[in-house]
Amino acid sequence: MSKPVPPEKRHPKCARCRKQPVLAEYRPFCSKRCADADLGSWLNGSYAIAGSPAEDAEDAPSGAPPVAGEDED
Ligand SMILES: [Zn+2]
Repeated sequence: MSKPVPPEKRHPKCARCRKQPVLAEYRPFCSKRCADADLGSWLNGSYAIAGSPAEDAEDAPSGAPPVAGEDED
């Protein structure tokens, strides 16, 4: 429990600009600007497109309405 922690572990640099020290609130980024910029390029990529259809299909089952029959009684 008394291992020396290397400086880069204690004060990692921003994952985007790699200049400013990481801020805990925006880890692994140094600021909201870097976090937003990275997230923006992320969402504009293929990640969101690849994950969206699967989620939609799971949330909207077709062919079997849950209240079928209740109104016909
Ligand atoms: Zn940064």
